[in-house]
Amino acid sequence: MPASSRATSVRATSGRAPKLDAVAAAAVDVARAALVDEVGEEQVGEHLGARAEGDRVVTHVFTTTLPGYRGWHWSVTVARAPRQKKVTVDEVVLLPGDDAIVSPDWTPYKDRVRSGDMSPGDMLPPEEDDPRLAPAWFVGDDAVDAEIDPTSVRPVAAEVGLGRNEVLSLFGRDAAAQRWYDGERGPDTPMAQQAPGRCRTCGFMVWLSPPLGTLFGVCANAMANDDGSVVSFDHGCGAHSEARVKQPSRGVSAPVHDTVTVDDVSDVEPV
Ligand code: SF4
Repeated sequence: MPASSRATSVRATSGRAPKLDAVAAAAVDVARAALVDEVGEEQVGEHLGARAEGDRVVTHVFTTTLPGYRGWHWSVTVARAPRQKKVTVDEVVLLPGDDAIVSPDWTPYKDRVRSGDMSPGDMLPPEEDDPRLAPAWFVGDDAVDAEIDPTSVRPVAAEVGLGRNEVLSLFGRDAAAQRWYDGERGPDTPMAQQAPGRCRTCGFMVWLSPPLGTLFGVCANAMANDDGSVVSFDHGCGAHSEARVKQPSRGVSAPVHDTVTVDDVSDVEPV
């Protein structure tokens, strides 16, 4: 967007609606001359009007002929000092109108990343105060470390499954549970809806430890779409361990009474 020039902050001086200053409103030529001086004659269209910005401060609006800026307009703000008839130009700027095409609101890069976006070698460290993580060591641990050689305590903790510096916070755990439950391995998918059984009763489901293990497990069926993924207990699929294909019953047809041919029973041995 072209830069503004001679920019000053223009605000109403009180809460009341500003009155349109007649002298500043009449200074269309001054505003146009400043605009042409700034951007060139070929980019300036007709004068669309003027609006009061504050006491003795008026913005003149002109159409723009800039290619690609349909719906945008030039705004030239002029002002005059009290008891002065001469106006000065405060600001020249290109602004979007109601039907202008504008870019969407900026989304920080960290909010754009989605699961699956990372490639080998990419780095995506958590933020400093990531609410999904909580410290795993208690407040008093530093004091304990001072008393006891930490190199002898923490390795022991690590051996029994403890010892990480950070773990999932309550927020992080709840967010993961909700995400998994609402996702493709929750209960509401077409696959789950038409499954002959639920994961909870499936022999292929590996249980997780609580608290997430009260609702989720891991599918370990190499033939299932969800092999290696976290599944909710009420998910399911056609590869359930107790799924059985029903064979169509082959009923015995009714006996036929043959009234056309004659059976030769002369060779039949009497019983
Ligand atoms: S095989 Fe199907 S029903 Fe069994 S655990 Fe995996 S997804 Fe669930």
